[in-house]
Amino acid sequence: MLPKQGRSSAVGDTSQIVGGGPKKVLYTLATIGKMGVGKAAKALTAKNACKACAYGMGGQRGGMTNELDEFPSVCNKSVQAQSTDIQPAIPHAIFEHPIADMQELTGKEMEHLGRLGTPLFKAAGSDRFAPVDWDFALNHATKKLRATDPQRSFFYSSGRSSNEAGFIFQLLARAYGTNNVNNCSYYCHQATSEGLATTIGKGTASVELEDLTGTDMIFVIGANPSSNHPRFIHMLKNCRERGGEVIVINPAKEPGLVKFAVPKSPSSMLKGGSEIASLYVQPRIGSDVALLKGIAKVVLEMGQQDVSFIDKHSSGFDAFRADLEALSWDEIVGACGIARDEIEEVAVRYAEAENAVFAWGMGMTHHIHGVENVEAIANLATLRGMVGKRFAGLLPLRGHSNVQGIGTIGVKPVLAKDVLAKMEAEFGVKFPEEKGYDTMACLKAAEAGEVDSAVIMGGNLWGATPDRAFASRAMEAIGFKLFLTTTLNMGHVNGLGDGEVLILPVTARDEEWEPTTQESMFNYVRLSDGGICRLDYVKPESWILATLAEGLLPPDYPIDFTAFRSHSKIRDAIAAIVPGMEELADIDVAKREFHIKSRVMHTPEFGTPDGKAHFVVTPIPALQRERLTLATMRSEGQFNTIIYEEKDSYRGGAGRFAVFLNANDMTRLGVAEGQNVTVASDTGRMSAIATAFDLPEGSAMAYYPEANVLVGTAVDPRSKTPAFKSVPIWIEH
Ligand code: SF4
Repeated sequence: MLPKQGRSSAVGDTSQIVGGGPKKVLYTLATIGKMGVGKAAKALTAKNACKACAYGMGGQRGGMTNELDEFPSVCNKSVQAQSTDIQPAIPHAIFEHPIADMQELTGKEMEHLGRLGTPLFKAAGSDRFAPVDWDFALNHATKKLRATDPQRSFFYSSGRSSNEAGFIFQLLARAYGTNNVNNCSYYCHQATSEGLATTIGKGTASVELEDLTGTDMIFVIGANPSSNHPRFIHMLKNCRERGGEVIVINPAKEPGLVKFAVPKSPSSMLKGGSEIASLYVQPRIGSDVALLKGIAKVVLEMGQQDVSFIDKHSSGFDAFRADLEALSWDEIVGACGIARDEIEEVAVRYAEAENAVFAWGMGMTHHIHGVENVEAIANLATLRGMVGKRFAGLLPLRGHSNVQGIGTIGVKPVLAKDVLAKMEAEFGVKFPEEKGYDTMACLKAAEAGEVDSAVIMGGNLWGATPDRAFASRAMEAIGFKLFLTTTLNMGHVNGLGDGEVLILPVTARDEEWEPTTQESMFNYVRLSDGGICRLDYVKPESWILATLAEGLLPPDYPIDFTAFRSHSKIRDAIAAIVPGMEELADIDVAKREFHIKSRVMHTPEFGTPDGKAHFVVTPIPALQRERLTLATMRSEGQFNTIIYEEKDSYRGGAGRFAVFLNANDMTRLGVAEGQNVTVASDTGRMSAIATAFDLPEGSAMAYYPEANVLVGTAVDPRSKTPAFKSVPIWIEH
C-alpha cells in the first residue's frame, strides 16, 4: 500500500531550471543556423499558419504574428517543425536498405532522413521499399481500394492536414461507402468535445485569444504549455504582471511553469525568469475530479457561487450541490492527496477572481474518466458564472495545428444530423448511415482480421497507439495500407506485415499549390498562402484524394471530385454545409480570417437544448493504490510523436527512456538515481533510467510514445480515448 500523502518535497535536479530564457534563444539560433538563415526567414515569415500547435500563429498576419497582431512571436516549437520540412529529399540509396535496417533508427533519426520526395511501394512479402512513379502509385492504390469492401476499410487523419484536404478525405470515405473515418482527437481531446457538449452544449473553447488579455485568473490544469504551447506562457506571464493569478494544477512540478524567461521580454530575461504559477497544486495522477469537487465545495460553503447566474442561466444545480454536500473531506483529501487547507486556498482565490479562464490539456483527457474530468472543470466555471462572458471561460489546449478544424469539417465517424443532411442535400447523395469506428475501434477490428485496407493521412498511427505489441498486430493485419506524409516516421517502417504498402509524398502547408485554411484552438480560421516550392515531385493531399476519387467512383457519380482540385470549390462546399463557416467561401479573396460563428461565448447563451449551462454530477473515480500510476508525457524537444531532441532541457537533460519517480518512492523501492530499472505494467515492460522528479508519491511519468508499450488499450467509454495518463505500473530492479 502506498503512503496516502500526495505531495512531494523532492525537487530533483530541476530546481534551478527556468523555462525559456537565453538557452532557448541559443537553441533557436542553432536550429535556424542548420536550416540556413534565408530558408528559415522565408519559412517563418511567410503567410502560413504555424505547423505545430493549435495556439494558432501565422496565417495572413505572417508566420511570427499572433491573432492580436503581436510580433515577433518566435517560438521554439514552430522553428522545430519548420526544420524538418525544409530538408532535402531522402536519397534513393536509403531505400536499398531493407526496412529492418530502418527499424533500427530512432524517431529523431527517422525524422532527419529528409523529406519524402518520391512515392514508395512495398510489394506483398517484400522486405524493402521501392521508389515508384505517381502513375503506378495512384493506379495501384485505386485498384486496391476498389477490390476492398468499404466496410472493411478505414480512413484516419492527423491534425496536420488542411480543412480542404480533410473535407475531401471524409467525403471520399463516405462516397466510397464507409463511415470508418476519424482523426487523432480520439487519442487526445475527444473527452473535451464530449464533456463540453454535456455542459455548455458546444465542443470547443468558449474564449478567444483576446479574452486572455483581460482575465485576472487563469487555471492551467493537466498541461505543460512551457513545452507544448510556448506562446501561451506569455499570456500567463502578462496575467501575473497585471496582478492576476495563475493557478497550475499538475501532478508534476514543471520548471517552465514555475519560472519562465520570456526571450521577447528584456525584464523577464534580466531577472532570470518571470514567475508563472502563483499557486502550484500537485494532486495525484488521475485524481482531478476529487480536487475540482473540493474547490467547488469550498466555494459553496463560503456562499461565493454566482446565485443570479445559476438561477437564470444554468440547470442541474440542486443535484450538483446535494452531491457536494454529501461528499466528505476525507474522501476528497484521501483521493487527491491535497490537504483541505490547500484546497481552501485555491477556492478563496477563485472566489476573489472577477474573470477566470480554465485551460486544460491531455492531463485531463487521457483517462478512463476523461469526460468527467472536463465536466468537473465546466461545473467549477459555471458555479461562479465564469462562462458566457468576456475575459472568462473554457479553453482546451489543443495539440496539432489543425486538429480542431479537421473535426469541424467532418473527419469523424458520426456527423451531426444537420451537417449530414446538408451534405446529402448539397451533393444529392445518400451517405452510409451506420455508425463508423473511432480510432481504437478501427485498430481492434484490424487485429480481428476485419480490415483489408486503410488510408492514413499524416501522423504516426502505429507509434501513437497504446500497447506496442497490439499496435503491430493490428497494423500488420491490414493487407493494404496507403500513407500520405511529408517525412518518414516509425509508423512507416513498423507494423507493415506481409501486405502491400504505398507511401505518397505530400506538400507541406507552405508548399501547397493553392491556399489552405486551418482552425486554431480559439475557433479562429486562418488562411495559409502556400506556394513555396522545395521538392518538385510531391503533391498536395487534395490533388491525390481527388485523383483517387476519380478512379474509385463511377464516372456519373454526383460529386464532382475533379472540381475539388480547386480549393476554393472545396471551401464553397464547406461554407454551404458546416454551420458557422459561411465566411470561408471568400476567405482567399477577402483575405479576411475569422472566428467561427457561435463558438466564442461572450454572453450566457449556451448550445444545449434549453440554452443553459448544465451542471453534471461527476462521481470520484475509484483509483488503484497498490501500484504506482504512470502518466506518459512529452518533452521539450518533441511534438506529438515527432522527436526533435533526445534530451529534455526542462527536465534536467533526461533522455527518452527516463522514468520519473517521487524521491520517497525511490527510497521505499530501493532505487537509486540513474539506476537501470524495468518498468512493468499489465501490458508490457520497458527498460528505463530511474530519475527523481517533483511528483506526488505514487505517481510516475515516462515519455510518449516510447512508454506506449506500457499503456493498455482500454478506452474511456464515453470518449473512446485510451488512458495514456493513468497506467498502473511497478518497478523491477
Ligand atoms: S505557440 Fe504553437 S502556434 Fe504559436 S508559434 Fe508556438 S507552436 Fe506555433
